Amino acid sequence: MNDEYEFPVEDYMPRERFERIKQFAKDKETPCLILDLDVIRSKYEELRKNFPYGKVYYAVKANPHDEVVSLLRDLGSCFDVATRYELDQLLRLKVTPDRMSFGNTIKKEKDIAYFYDKGVRLFATDSFEDVDKIARAAPGSQVFFRILTEGLGADWPLSRKFGCHPEMTRNLILHAKDLGLDPYGISFHVGSQQRDIGQWSSALSNVGSIFVTAEEHGIKLKMVNMGGGFPAMYTDPTNPMEHYSSDIMSYLHNNFGDELPEIIIEPGRSMAGDCGVIVTEIVNIAKKSTHDLYHWVFFDIGKFGGLIETLDEAIKYPICFEKTGPTLDIILAGPTCDSMDILYEKTPYEMPASTKIGERAYILTTGAYTQSYSSIYFNGFPPLTSYILK
Ligand SMILES: *Cc1c(COP(=O)(O)O)cnc(C)c1O
Repeated sequence: MNDEYEFPVEDYMPRERFERIKQFAKDKETPCLILDLDVIRSKYEELRKNFPYGKVYYAVKANPHDEVVSLLRDLGSCFDVATRYELDQLLRLKVTPDRMSFGNTIKKEKDIAYFYDKGVRLFATDSFEDVDKIARAAPGSQVFFRILTEGLGADWPLSRKFGCHPEMTRNLILHAKDLGLDPYGISFHVGSQQRDIGQWSSALSNVGSIFVTAEEHGIKLKMVNMGGGFPAMYTDPTNPMEHYSSDIMSYLHNNFGDELPEIIIEPGRSMAGDCGVIVTEIVNIAKKSTHDLYHWVFFDIGKFGGLIETLDEAIKYPICFEKTGPTLDIILAGPTCDSMDILYEKTPYEMPASTKIGERAYILTTGAYTQSYSSIYFNGFPPLTSYILK
């Protein structure tokens, strides 16, 4: 209970911008997602400034909105593409295949052939079986090998499923070479919303030693793909981008000396997260018993409407209620008839006690991994609608 609640909007964006978003959303049905492209533009510029030696491959899955992709295309970004559907979208938006990598390690041979046929020549891999597929369907292409990372310290870890052990990578490189592919580099992903910068250090030292062994076998690797993992602004604190870039720079020099290989980064969350605000209506505020210590607050959006990253309360979105004054401790849930559709039960959230059913709340930092995750017609709810802030 807090007598002085006033949501600290300025921690996340200038108040003037927040007011513009609210005004813009006024006549829109909820739930909806409002995207501010100026934020994408400044995030891209911030990344370029902090990683001047790195090539940006935007991870399309984070926010595949046509206008987001088109803006990044115009700014000069390359793209990490995961499926033939994303590839078709990018081609429709006139992104050329030399600016794409097929970054998914899980792919059908016929889809590899499709990418190859469209002109893509850069492929991720992490298994012998997949290297065989690439050699058959995309002969002579550049391949980069994804190594396993622990995912420790990440709010949304990606470990286990992707990558292979550094030991196995050495054999995979030789295998790819034998099959006529071009072993081009090594990639990793330290886990999404990675708040421990040191995780790049252990990954890069593995990469450094793979470069050395490959060279002993006469193979000169040329590229390091450092993946995503850079943060967006949720409620748990993170370091600013400058700390990421300066620490990572020193890890790179520790492992490669002054002659850095070509560097790729694949930001998704850090590029798109901060650009979005979800506008939701409070459907109900209720107690489960007379002396319930918590009020249940039900939004018109939940896990199935685009907030699936609240699974295990992993991603903690800043949520703005408009009133001020004394607060209630709340449990937040979505509108569907599925009991897993609870957003936050353990994480403390509070709401001004004077808040009424039918009022709006604003879920900040929802530009990444929301609309692209929203379900289609579960309980009849349509997929999340988005608007570009004008
Ligand atoms: C999802 C993904 C990314 C983006 O990660 P973020 O943590 O959102 O920046 C980058 N690379 C690959 C291969 C991915 O699958």
